[in-house]
Amino acid sequence: MSLKSNAQGVLDVQSVEDLMDEQTAGIMLTNPNTLGIFETNIRQIAQVVHAKGGLVYGDGANMNAIMGIVDIKKCGVDVMHLNLHKTFSTPHGGGGPGAGPVCVVSELARFLPVPRVVKEGDRYRLEFNSPESIGRIHGFHGNFSVLVRAYSYIRSMGPGNLKKASQLAVLNANYIKERLKKDLHLPYDLPCMHECVFSDLFQHDDGVKTLDMAKRLIDFGYHPPTIYFPLVVPGAIMIEPTETECKEDIDLFIKVVQQVVVEAKENPELLHQAPVRTKLRRLDETRAARHPCLCG
Ligand SMILES: *Cc1c(COP(=O)(O)O)cnc(C)c1O
Repeated sequence: MSLKSNAQGVLDVQSVEDLMDEQTAGIMLTNPNTLGIFETNIRQIAQVVHAKGGLVYGDGANMNAIMGIVDIKKCGVDVMHLNLHKTFSTPHGGGGPGAGPVCVVSELARFLPVPRVVKEGDRYRLEFNSPESIGRIHGFHGNFSVLVRAYSYIRSMGPGNLKKASQLAVLNANYIKERLKKDLHLPYDLPCMHECVFSDLFQHDDGVKTLDMAKRLIDFGYHPPTIYFPLVVPGAIMIEPTETECKEDIDLFIKVVQQVVVEAKENPELLHQAPVRTKLRRLDETRAARHPCLCG
């Protein structure tokens, strides 16, 4: 069963209350959510779920906005995985590898898979004896390189810089949101977290769609942002600048998007043809997925 966000782009406590009963194992939610908005009702939602004996699973996909700032446990979250390939320095995309270590509250620790690494004095050892554990899972070591990279990143940044990374990611996304909201339709005009979601509504009359604008960005040397996601926004364009871009680069990106928007009005055909500066033009993505040619 999935729950829709309300007009403010967040989950209602009431809608969770209406569905929650003793038969419900729990709720999974992403915070900040996929609209880039902080779930402000999360503590009350967790109370409703806990009152019926359920658990709260947090999808840690969007930690980039809240790392070092929000105490996930205080929000009432019992279990959360961290997408190390998103926030913790492994590049996302290209199909992996990724890694998602699962964090739990101490009450649930006894159910974690074995072996577990435990510290004794100055040494670490593997603990196999855990009667309530779900047992051994395939691939204990996971994608080891991703784990090591995340660990090195966390240690080299330190708590202060991790927090700063989140603050800059949020600042950058809000800056883009404010600068582009006259050019692109902004379905939820609220302060955002580390990503902002526009749509192609303003371009409808010119017959230009999100896909056309994304393809045109390739002509200017940009890897297009996530498009048509989240699904609750038709024609979505989700922009996540991250913390690493400097203001000059963000300003240049904004200028390019504004130019694409002008082109959409003045020369929609150019956008329908885009990309025009690449060796291969618009690819048949469906055919590529159905009949992949993986060699040569
Ligand atoms: C990225 C993302 C996923 C997919 O996670 P992967 O680890 O890349 O498979 C799922 N949910 C949300 C909200 C995401 O942002």
